[in-house]
Amino acid sequence: ARTYDVVIVGGGSAGIATAASMLKRRKGLSIAIIEPSDVHYYQPGWTLVGAGVFQPQVTCRPTAQVMPREVHWIKATVTSFAPDESRVILADGSDATYRVLVVAAGIRLAWEAIPGLTEALGHNGVTSNYRFDLAPYTNKLASELTSGRAIFTQPPMPIKCAGAPQKAMYLSCDRWLQAGRLKDISVEFNNAGAVLFGVAAYVPALMEYVKRYNIQLNFETKLVGVDGLARVARFEQKTPEGTKIIEREFDMLHAVPPQVAPDCIKTSKLAAASGFAAVNETTLQNPTYPNVFALGDGCAASNAKTAAAVRQQAPVVAVNALAQLEGKPLTAAYLGYGSCPLTVERGRIVLAEFSYGGKITPTFPTWILDGTKPTRAAWFLKDRVLPWVYWQDMLKGREWLAAPKALAATAQQKA
Ligand code: FAD
Repeated sequence: ARTYDVVIVGGGSAGIATAASMLKRRKGLSIAIIEPSDVHYYQPGWTLVGAGVFQPQVTCRPTAQVMPREVHWIKATVTSFAPDESRVILADGSDATYRVLVVAAGIRLAWEAIPGLTEALGHNGVTSNYRFDLAPYTNKLASELTSGRAIFTQPPMPIKCAGAPQKAMYLSCDRWLQAGRLKDISVEFNNAGAVLFGVAAYVPALMEYVKRYNIQLNFETKLVGVDGLARVARFEQKTPEGTKIIEREFDMLHAVPPQVAPDCIKTSKLAAASGFAAVNETTLQNPTYPNVFALGDGCAASNAKTAAAVRQQAPVVAVNALAQLEGKPLTAAYLGYGSCPLTVERGRIVLAEFSYGGKITPTFPTWILDGTKPTRAAWFLKDRVLPWVYWQDMLKGREWLAAPKALAATAQQKA
């Protein structure tokens, strides 16, 4: 078996950011990243691709280009974990051993869980910003639709970027409003959940836009099937009388698939009850195997699954994993920060920023940027600043405004 100080499973946002952060702190460390994809994606950009604001090319780069130079890239898929032997097994049957393992395999989009959806996507008005190749189709549909019914769906939690299903809707509605077409388009938001957004402080600002765009909100209404040719979507709706199936015709359907833990984690000894990689929510260390850490969408911590969360988690995992390698106590704490820039209209964003338990934790003072209101400052951040922060700061281990908190201080705060 090949052996490394650190093996990282997944070379997405979390895997690359963690490797870069570790190498900034300790030159010469032997790190392998196991990642099958040739392309690395900046997924937060897909919302703006769907709105015709970004070109798709600005949301991807060759994986080879984002890999830190010192990292050994193993272009393969992990199929199982043998944590008792500090070993991971790859699809071709080979393996790699480690002193420390970082699990960063993301979340799996379960398209197949909605019968008919996979076949329908990309034709007949069915689209999703959750796929790189389909976000441009959202843009095409929104720019061409002149009348009829547009349905936007949201699956049960957990999903990555919980605001993204409604972001696609607001940006489409804004275009229709500007073009004078909204009066001829009826818009529905069919949400499997029971609330518009999980943190109540942001809901009033969002409701203003729901009213402005005359959106019909249907809660506890879950997409369960799509007939692309007939342009009919099937929903399971909870009502006081019980659950019923309803069918809705559409001219445009923006579907977001249910999302699950990657199989290799779910079936392993590293999984929490949810199927995601078990962690101590503060140190991001596995509760059973001290030489295993996890972060990003694939870990079981209760933060909002966002790249913004990863930006703060990566330095915490880097510091703690290095301490573990050196046999020292862990020192860094993650407090559950995550963020969701809700694009309510072109040019304005409601910037949700919160930590564990829905505690609001804004980066900027209110006089610069009040996240509970739609602001141009937050749009500027998403449109111009954050892509740069992603490629040039986060993936390079530079950690602007993301220095890890001290674990000792957190423990004192709790006491
Ligand atoms: P990913 O970046 O998805 O990377 C996981 C990697 O693991 C992938 O490269 C995959 O190939 C690899 N992998 C999977 N299985 C295996 C395996 N078995 N073996 C080896 N490798 C494997 N976040 C924000 O902060 N703000 C936003 O505005 C925002 N908007 C979003 C909009 C959309 C439409 C989407 C889809 C996401 C959005 N996000 C946003 C969320 C953000 O993209 C994710 O939270 C972030 O990418 C998580 O990083 P990750 O490394 O955990 O997962």
